[in-house]
Amino acid sequence: MSEANPTAVPQPAGATRSRRIGRAAARGGDAASVPGGALAFQRMFTRLGCQGRPPQFAVEFYPYANLSHTIRLRDDDATARLSDVLRGAPLGVIEATAAVLLGRLYRKRVPHELMHLYRQFSAAPSTERRIRRLRQNRARRPTLPARGQTHDLAPLFTALNRDYFGGRLRRPALAWSARIWRRQLGCFDPGLDLIVLNVRLDRPGTPQYVVESILFHEMLHVKHPLRVARCGLEIHSLEFRREEKRFLHFERARRYLKHMR
Ligand SMILES: [Zn+2]
Repeated sequence: MSEANPTAVPQPAGATRSRRIGRAAARGGDAASVPGGALAFQRMFTRLGCQGRPPQFAVEFYPYANLSHTIRLRDDDATARLSDVLRGAPLGVIEATAAVLLGRLYRKRVPHELMHLYRQFSAAPSTERRIRRLRQNRARRPTLPARGQTHDLAPLFTALNRDYFGGRLRRPALAWSARIWRRQLGCFDPGLDLIVLNVRLDRPGTPQYVVESILFHEMLHVKHPLRVARCGLEIHSLEFRREEKRFLHFERARRYLKHMR
């Protein structure tokens, strides 16, 4: 049986089904049962109009380093793992989270007010602070030094800072990812104050302006911090998008990345 897989396709009855909210980055640690969690899931099972007999729910907190939750259904047992970030959250938020997870699992529409409640909680400043704190404690993904095999990020940062930020942008830590990421080319993590670029770009075939374009994008995130910042969650305002185009080779880099394999 596999741990929840975000791209898992629902399997026939009797097999394991799993769903996930967010991009989980779990670290080891003790899971603890969520008070009233199983009942909340049962209530939401009914409220969403899920078919058949509800499974036995086991609901636990799990040390996901961000607002990620997973659910796994195997025969009559459903195990839900809610992010630690929800510890101490009001029961209504637990219910809303249950509804979102069950909605994914059973492909049911989540009532608007529950969706709203969940989103409101996700975007709350106190949630942001909690996520940041948890990330600082445990989310560090392995990285390589800024000076890569081909491209050195430090001088690129300095040049971009001079050319586009009047040299005034505060410099966070810079690194290459230790492993090739499939989905992202770069990431700024305000919790760690760290820009990481996908090591996949650190090769002789990648033109410098392409690396610069990604670095420039992440530098804009340093300049315009997200309210709830999570790597992989792309929130870009129109203003951000406009500013991104100031990079001299923006279109050229975009064309290159489109065809990059
Ligand atoms: Zn971005």
